[in-house]
Amino acid sequence: MARRTIFAGNWKMYTVRGEALALARGILEGLKSPIPHEVVLFTPAVHLFEVAALCAGGPVAVGAQNMYFEREGAFTGEISPAMVKDSGARWVLIGHSERRHVFHETDEDVNKKLRAALQAGLLPMVCVGELLDEREAEKSEDVVRVQVERAFEGLTGGEAASVVIAYEPVWAIGTGKVATPEIAQSMHGHIRAVVEKLFGGDVAGAMPILYGGSVKPDNIAGLFAMEDIDGALVGGASLKASSFLEIARVR
Ligand code: PEP
Repeated sequence: MARRTIFAGNWKMYTVRGEALALARGILEGLKSPIPHEVVLFTPAVHLFEVAALCAGGPVAVGAQNMYFEREGAFTGEISPAMVKDSGARWVLIGHSERRHVFHETDEDVNKKLRAALQAGLLPMVCVGELLDEREAEKSEDVVRVQVERAFEGLTGGEAASVVIAYEPVWAIGTGKVATPEIAQSMHGHIRAVVEKLFGGDVAGAMPILYGGSVKPDNIAGLFAMEDIDGALVGGASLKASSFLEIARVR
């Protein structure tokens, strides 16, 4: 089945205003030669309004890297789903491994954020992935299955159909150690089977599942050739327009 293909950049806590705008402009410039994939830029929250305005009407969508699940309230330092929407961003990244491991977000937080994003009409990209010791203990499949089951708890099939998953093995993020195409494919196939068990074959078959973890121009082709890999979530290599574009131009 032909699925949507998506290439997303996670700028993490990099770029001051001028750098963010220059990076977005460089990517827009490069996409004047169209590509057959969707492109999403997850920018730091303070740049959302301006980058979204710059990208409006073009081939690039913009997303927040995180948000809180409450509608509003005394939650100093947090941003709400409505604030993300109001910025012009359409997407939100949920449960990135740095949110889980540096900021101690739980599967329950991920589930609440996913529901809040859907309720706000945002497009959620949910990240899952195992730690190195979990892989070494041969627990990767169990760990990721539980992350997916808990993230999607209480969702209808219709809601699940608008969610994108990013499989990002934690040992591969920012380490230069990319998963082999075979390891990534095996985990993507497993994730699709978990989604199928939860929501049926139609939802699972259509759901884009992106790979993330040290994706670079020289390793994307092997990954993207795999049956269940529908694009990439790119960190470090998304901070230069040329390397992000090279990755996103894969066929
Ligand atoms: C990420 O930030 O989601 C990521 C995969 O980072 P990197 O590409 O730098 O490993």
